[in-house]
Amino acid sequence: MEDNHIYQYSFVNALMAGVSDSGISVEKLLSKGNQGIGTFTRMRGELLMIDGKIYQLLGEGKTREPDEIDQIPYAVGTKFVPQKTSNVRLESKESVGQLLKQFEFYSENAFMNYRFDGRFESIKCRTVKGQEYEGQPLAEVGKNQQVQTYHDIEGTIVGFQSPEIWQGFFVAGNHMHFVSKDRKDGGHVLELSDGEGKLGVAKAVNIHMELPTSRAFNDAKLSIDDIGIKAVEG
Ligand SMILES: [Zn+2]
Repeated sequence: MEDNHIYQYSFVNALMAGVSDSGISVEKLLSKGNQGIGTFTRMRGELLMIDGKIYQLLGEGKTREPDEIDQIPYAVGTKFVPQKTSNVRLESKESVGQLLKQFEFYSENAFMNYRFDGRFESIKCRTVKGQEYEGQPLAEVGKNQQVQTYHDIEGTIVGFQSPEIWQGFFVAGNHMHFVSKDRKDGGHVLELSDGEGKLGVAKAVNIHMELPTSRAFNDAKLSIDDIGIKAVEG
């Protein structure tokens, strides 16, 4: 993969339909980039790839480094090379979108890949506990999640901003996962306040999509569900 191209395996609508029984291996995702986000089979925990390593964030201080053969039913990754880096203050999760607009190469209709390293006054993350039965849709799985707020914590956010019209392929808008500096805590970012640190940003205009070939995917009833995605991934 070339620098700052996006590789994506499966899409969010497939998770919404509960397709998460299999996917690409950890080893394969690592071959596609050095940072990214996603989930694991049966939607157990949150995936974060950073500096060429993959973590399974399970909440309550539990983080696992998966085996190379573990399966990933959904992920987005990139070989991130920042086109611009600046020291910023993040007041809230929403302020990330505002800051991205200040980069001269910004476009609402392209993809923005970013990484933020710094300290937060607080950051609220969730980790989903996983499907309770095969094929359970993401909207239901998301109800069984643990939410934790970390205070005065150092760490890294990996994020992607995708255009509204890509809702369902990606999570439209800003989708970010956080991991603490000691790599022990983190999850899907719900809220944050007062982050100080370094923001690196790159624009992506090349997307490589790979679809699952599993029977679950082939037989799934896929649909468009903007409200449902916003409820579970917002
Ligand atoms: Zn997420």
